[in-house]
Amino acid sequence: MYQYKEVKDGVYVLSLDNHVEIASALKAFCEEKHILAGNILGLGAISEATFRFLNPATKAYVDKTFQEQMEITNLTGNISEKDGAPYLHLHITASRKDYTCIGGHLLTARINGACELLVEAFPGASIGRYPDAETGLNLYKF
Ligand code: FE
Repeated sequence: MYQYKEVKDGVYVLSLDNHVEIASALKAFCEEKHILAGNILGLGAISEATFRFLNPATKAYVDKTFQEQMEITNLTGNISEKDGAPYLHLHITASRKDYTCIGGHLLTARINGACELLVEAFPGASIGRYPDAETGLNLYKF
């Protein structure tokens, strides 16, 4: 699913295998390394992805699937903890063949090419979340 190198304590450079789904691969990596707080940064190429948009008025997520080749121009995320497991919050911007970009909260994305990521863990740290009634979001609980 992935190969990685720990370049310094808690900092990993990852290469995901072709055709892998990015969000589930990242979750599996965080589970393997017991990461409950950290940052994610990445780029790559995908051919199918589902993004979500939170409508603040309804507090409902609207999901949309795109089936086309795109470059991940930026994947940004953070890692926290929910119910004892890694909880990933991922956002993505991707460029289409006409060079325009689309983006949103990343639900799933399937690699078609490569995906190179940096995962920076905060060893020993854990950041929890709580469901916030006003926004409908799972916010940081410090
Ligand atoms: Fe989000």
